[in-house]
Amino acid sequence: MKLFNNSNFDAHEKVVFVNDAATGLQAIIALHNTRLGPGLGGCRIYPYASVDAALTDALRLSRGMSYKSALAGLPLGGGKSVIIGDPQTVKSERLLAAMARAVNDLGGAYIIAQDSGTTVEDMQTMAQHTVHCAGGKSVRTPAGEVALDPSPYTALGVYKGLEAAVQFRFGRRSLSGLSVAIQGLGNVGYGLAEYLHAAGARLFVQDINAANVQRAVAKLGASELVGDQIFRHKADVFAPCALGGVLNDHSVDQLNCAIVAGAANNQLVTPAHGHKLAERDILYVPDYLLNAGGIIAIHHARAGDSDLKQPVERIGDTTMELLQRAKYAAERPETIADRMAEERFAADHAVERVA
Ligand code: NAD
Repeated sequence: MKLFNNSNFDAHEKVVFVNDAATGLQAIIALHNTRLGPGLGGCRIYPYASVDAALTDALRLSRGMSYKSALAGLPLGGGKSVIIGDPQTVKSERLLAAMARAVNDLGGAYIIAQDSGTTVEDMQTMAQHTVHCAGGKSVRTPAGEVALDPSPYTALGVYKGLEAAVQFRFGRRSLSGLSVAIQGLGNVGYGLAEYLHAAGARLFVQDINAANVQRAVAKLGASELVGDQIFRHKADVFAPCALGGVLNDHSVDQLNCAIVAGAANNQLVTPAHGHKLAERDILYVPDYLLNAGGIIAIHHARAGDSDLKQPVERIGDTTMELLQRAKYAAERPETIADRMAEERFAADHAVERVA
């Protein structure tokens, strides 16, 4: 197994391998950068083909969390954990308790949260064994347990960022009449569609789940697109809200939009696809900037703040700042996003914040 020479190793501060023979728990907790605060990130349970594959995921995802939280201006670092196994069979109360104890041993450097393979109930189980737990829909705050679904906040953040991108690109504040092609009408995509509909936008939608499409057609007056039409359809904005890796060799050449702004994680398959978008004069708004609303809400709920919307809405200001910086520097938005995040979690800057 490779650690220090794994291509996803990026000077991670700590990588902990957890083995609990009594419960069969095999897990990896990766902390990428905690200069701004504890690493808050989800716990993914997945039947990885190898420990190397699990390690690669933990390294990659924890690094992503450092960038997302820093760019969102949160006092949080980057952390993520993976449990090796099929969530349908490996999970037990004792295994989750063992995982929570491993988190506890890190003394608060890592805060565990929900991710694919873990549920709200799993988080509640873990919360009985560690205070360093932020459930997907249930978070611990000084006032007690608070029910929280991050997806509506993610949708709000994407909406505010999209609005800022439209203002930047077209010089207009109103979204009335704007055409938006949305791929994926799940928890986030449908919420985004509702905001856009309320603002007067025209919606073109695609989802592999027919019921989700029917709901958007019936309630929001959306028009259905099928297959690759979602890429080819002429629209002001393409909003990917389904899968990662959507900006690839197949899709980028087909796009017929001015802006790409959506919730899906890791949209660009490679930096070259970002370059291609820029060449085609398509403005790409970095995914990890737009989809940070959920983690922003979780952070503020944990801090006991009552207004969770306002900090999420600031994604609009950050988007405008980033796009303007990119324009003046004549660089791509994703390059500037990485730089802005790195500036924030760089050692010197972090020390200044504490001083
Ligand atoms: P979800 O599972 O609720 O919704 C995804 C939707 O996409 C579903 O309706 C599904 O049917 C559809 N879909 C799947 N494959 C598709 C395909 N090939 N073509 C068209 N539609 C397809 O997920 P979500 O919570 O809405 O998240 C959407 C995206 O945003 C994901 O990439 C997720 O990682 C990312 N994200 C979500 C959050 C959050 O708070 N939920 C936060 C950050 C990032």
